Amino acid sequence: MPKIVTLPGDGIGPEVTAAAVEVLREVAPDVHIEEHAIGGGAYDLYGDPFPQATRDAIRDADAVLLGTVGGPQNSPWNSLPRQLRPESGLLALRKALGCYANLRPVRVQPGLEHLSPLKPELARGVDILIVRELLGGIYFDGDRRIEGETAYNTMRYTTPEVERVAKVAFWAAEQRRGRVTSVDKANVLEVSELWRRDVQALRDREYRNVHLNHEYVDSVAMLIVANPGRYDVIVTENLFGDILSDLAAVIPGSLGLMPSASLGDGPGLFEPIHGSAPDIAGQGIANPAATIMSAAMLLRHGLDRPQVANQVDRAVALALREHPTRDLGGKADTRTFTHAVLNAMGSPS
Ligand code: ATP
Repeated sequence: MPKIVTLPGDGIGPEVTAAAVEVLREVAPDVHIEEHAIGGGAYDLYGDPFPQATRDAIRDADAVLLGTVGGPQNSPWNSLPRQLRPESGLLALRKALGCYANLRPVRVQPGLEHLSPLKPELARGVDILIVRELLGGIYFDGDRRIEGETAYNTMRYTTPEVERVAKVAFWAAEQRRGRVTSVDKANVLEVSELWRRDVQALRDREYRNVHLNHEYVDSVAMLIVANPGRYDVIVTENLFGDILSDLAAVIPGSLGLMPSASLGDGPGLFEPIHGSAPDIAGQGIANPAATIMSAAMLLRHGLDRPQVANQVDRAVALALREHPTRDLGGKADTRTFTHAVLNAMGSPS
């Protein structure tokens, strides 16, 4: 029996996770779902933001669904030593899972084009998947130092590191529109030359059915807002991906619409990109769409159930159109929205 560990966390985390779990129980009743503590709540219970029981539980899980971690600015957690603060639980979790590919879909939902900062004709139909390398590159290489008035960081990639993240991108493209854009700065950086060479070689060897092109990161930064419709899957290294994925995150028009997945060789981590929203926590009005869509990614990438994942995504799109939540200018609260998703899947709730 597949096992999912849920980590609701703090703030609106428990509310949006409960909504996603309701949907998962409906579409994947055979899956065992186990809840554990992380973040500030875990500190309150166990004196540790990433307790041993949680570490043990994720070890044999097939996937982890995370809510949000954090808390109000004036929380007593924030006066704790750094390693005991809620966010350090999140960092430790990400490290323990060793995920090397971060996936962020950027989708403008039909009927919600008006929320996008882009003109409706540009926003309509945008559906991009950004695959960012997460464990290598300039953020991680060992050779980093400041010497007087000189400072060093090193961008370094190896062929196996490039290939494993590129595989995720090609695999995802096969399930989508079959196009990958690999983003680099190969006109200036040797590390990008290697990146480009290895991504192309992998495509020619194993993914001949996928169309691959290469673009420079500066050009993509412009085109992703000037003409986002031209992209299907974008794959890029850590630093470029960090910047491009935050840039692209504003296109759908609300944080409440952005799911994510982080994949590695062990269980994947699936979570909304928004924070714990302490200003609305406990009121039952949080938009659970990003977490429900993260659960859809879990079904697709964590459990290899793409058809059920598509069913959930379609139901979310319908619910967003008919019962938008307050952050989207509508009136639906968390429960109403979740029931709309369940109803859209044809299940009475
Ligand atoms: P953190 O420090 O945990 O990142 P934050 O307040 O800096 O918290 P978010 O939690 O992402 O960042 O919140 C930013 C704003 O977006 C807040 O006003 C919050 O209420 C709103 N928001 C974020 N997520 C949602 C959601 N799922 N539904 C409704 N509003 C949301």
